[in-house]
Amino acid sequence: MCHIKNNIQQVREQIDHASQKCGRLADSVQLIAVSKTKPIEAIADAIAAGQRAFGENYVQEGVEKVEYFAEHPPAAPIEWHFIGPIQSNKTRLIAEHFDWVHSVDRLKIAKRLSEQRPTHLPPLNVLVQVNTSGEASKSGLSVDNAIALIEDIRALPGLNVRGLMSIPQPETDYQRQCAAFEPLSNAFHALSEQTPDIDTLSMGMSGDMEAAIACGSTMVRVGTAIFGARDYR
Ligand SMILES: *Cc1c(COP(=O)(O)O)cnc(C)c1O
Repeated sequence: MCHIKNNIQQVREQIDHASQKCGRLADSVQLIAVSKTKPIEAIADAIAAGQRAFGENYVQEGVEKVEYFAEHPPAAPIEWHFIGPIQSNKTRLIAEHFDWVHSVDRLKIAKRLSEQRPTHLPPLNVLVQVNTSGEASKSGLSVDNAIALIEDIRALPGLNVRGLMSIPQPETDYQRQCAAFEPLSNAFHALSEQTPDIDTLSMGMSGDMEAAIACGSTMVRVGTAIFGARDYR
């Protein structure tokens, strides 16, 4: 109960410290609390501790949580981020329930999300997922293909393309973490200079958020350090 509050406080301090160290403002990094596999009560504790943005990986589970908090709205509005792999038969549920999607990696999915976004909602914020680890098994595009996809998404009325996201291969060494973030960070800075609507770089998790912030991340997605280890049984 109160450990979630303490954890959030600690993570915020880590973010502040990492930002200061590289001369950035702490509020230039948004904390997304990744609540996948965790119960409603854990999310409610995080909300009570002032957390406002949550990330979910599994459509059904995420939609249940979004609906619960729509029926039991907290005092200040909360924001839902879909960060998991996207199957095309699940795009409607995502378009109808989430505020952000971090894991767009093909035009077909982007088109469906745009068509299925309800017109009474603002355009869905999307990030294009980049694979910086170069492994064929992982999802995400090369930097060049991601830039091309961003251009195509610009034409879709239901979407607001905001930037890039990546999940590099886990590394414990700080220098190696930075090496994985750097290509993404360079691409992001080039894009955001050309086009001011590209303002979001989603990278960094519990184990590598400090390196990610040093490399220019504007959104860190933190699960374990806030909610504890996940149990997938
Ligand atoms: C699970 C997950 C996270 C959170 O990872 P932790 O190591 O628990 O902080 C972040 N991003 C994505 C895409 C995830 O799937």
